Amino acid sequence: MRGAETTGEVQLKRLAISSGLARGFAYVHRDILDQLQFRYSVSDDKIDDEWNRIKTALDVVDGDLQRSAARVDQELGQKMAAIFEAHRVLLRDPSLVSEFERELHERRVNAEDIVKSVLSRYELRLRADENTALSERGDDIADLSRRLLRVLTGTREHTITQCPPGCVLVTRQLLPSECVHLKRRGIAGVVIERGGATSHAALLTREMGVPAVSGVAGATDLILNGEQLLVDGNAGTVTVRASAESIAEFDGRLCEQNKVQAVHLSHCHDPAVTQDGQVIQVMANVGCEADVQLAVKNGADGIGLYRIEYHFLMMSTLPSEDELYHELRNALKPAMGLDVTVRLLDTGGDKCMPWLDLPHEPDPFLGRRGARFLLAWPELLRTQLRVLLRLSGETSLGILIPMVTRADEVQQVRSALTQEAEKMNIACPRLGVMIETPAAALCVSQIALLCDFLSIGSNDLTQYTMVAGRENPLVADYFDDEHPAVMRLIRIICHESRGLPVSVCGELAASPTAVEELVHKGVTILSVVPPLVPRVKDQVRAIAQHRTP
Ligand code: PEP
Ligand code: MG
Repeated sequence: MRGAETTGEVQLKRLAISSGLARGFAYVHRDILDQLQFRYSVSDDKIDDEWNRIKTALDVVDGDLQRSAARVDQELGQKMAAIFEAHRVLLRDPSLVSEFERELHERRVNAEDIVKSVLSRYELRLRADENTALSERGDDIADLSRRLLRVLTGTREHTITQCPPGCVLVTRQLLPSECVHLKRRGIAGVVIERGGATSHAALLTREMGVPAVSGVAGATDLILNGEQLLVDGNAGTVTVRASAESIAEFDGRLCEQNKVQAVHLSHCHDPAVTQDGQVIQVMANVGCEADVQLAVKNGADGIGLYRIEYHFLMMSTLPSEDELYHELRNALKPAMGLDVTVRLLDTGGDKCMPWLDLPHEPDPFLGRRGARFLLAWPELLRTQLRVLLRLSGETSLGILIPMVTRADEVQQVRSALTQEAEKMNIACPRLGVMIETPAAALCVSQIALLCDFLSIGSNDLTQYTMVAGRENPLVADYFDDEHPAVMRLIRIICHESRGLPVSVCGELAASPTAVEELVHKGVTILSVVPPLVPRVKDQVRAIAQHRTP
């Protein structure tokens, strides 16, 4: 912090996670459990009303859980659905229900306060238990508490959806499941207390083209709702209570930024060709219709990575085949006629589905992620394959398998695709593999025999090569996606790809210092977030000579 005493201005400097400048009013978002709940006394004649409110909330949440259990049972089987059933049992536990009632009669305060205090006591009791399985049930209780409070306070929607367009969102953390709600909000910037520069939340803010700063400890307490903020996503600073001088200087830079962007945009619909005539396709990484629209507007040559998981994160339960088909079809409409690559659900690690209460894994990033997850839930995989087969009749489509480690995973997905295609009497679309583990990179020649194209996920490839978690700011300096070790793996992938097209769809594809080297290594497709397509096209045009080392 500086200057707080003399000018009132405070500058917080932390991690720049999404570039650009933004000026807007703060919208401070808190988890419903951290929010100050109103506590008020209830007169004797209103106690029954309050008790009815609690009983109604219990019924509503019970109904939600029942619907989730039924849907999950269909796709993932009884074992998974049992988790929702277990939540229902917790909710209906007679001792819990009578504790609500007893506490209401004793304390005579509103339902929200009763629910929050009874459940937080339950949670603490479970967490204190030495039996790990029981202490993990604490998360289930916190989740039930959130669900009940949302019903009682009438905020069935995620509160993040209430953040007004043009504001700067200030939040403790930004989970992927929350980011999806922001997509259409038109927010100007984001300030986050926790999370590394390469976290999925960081990627999502970049995808939205929203400047963001992370690691700002205490931001939700320091910054007041409605305060004007200057967010510099290049330098990683947030200025609170800025002086007139600082605002004028900031606006000057904002104006300059807009001018540079206008130059890139002016020829974004032309192809990106190196000076010696090599055409490089600059495509877009997207996750919803708004992204696809922006990608097309910004001159993307295709969709290089459609992250399907947003459609799963948006839902309170698993989407059905028809729901997913219609959602994807609508989202992809603006890109009809272009090449589109849709990635199968990439869950695990930090990308947890809110409706899927998976058992705790000790090292989730080294656990059942990507292809491993899909193969563990074959019905979920086949539903997506059927949806994509239906779509392949309408647009030029490629299917991408996430986080592959071994060739046999590709073989298994390939045979599921062939079987579904035969049943539906539809030709198999192109099948591609994300190369994002060192194992897949080093054995790429075996994988290449089983697929039609390769896509390098440089974010995970860096995480697993440099042994530096993408969510962990403490090892951010180890997370170097241009490190010689990563570059060497990329060279191997390009050399041993058996002539298949190779794209890069991680953040590296937009790095001003790496684009030329990637092209020289043999990468022919760069897939980047929609706001960066015009700039990356200009970078390709500046490459003097294409050479293969
Ligand atoms: C990657 O790992 O580089 C990638 C594109 O996948 P995601 O960021 O969605 O994990
Ligand atoms: Mg990845």
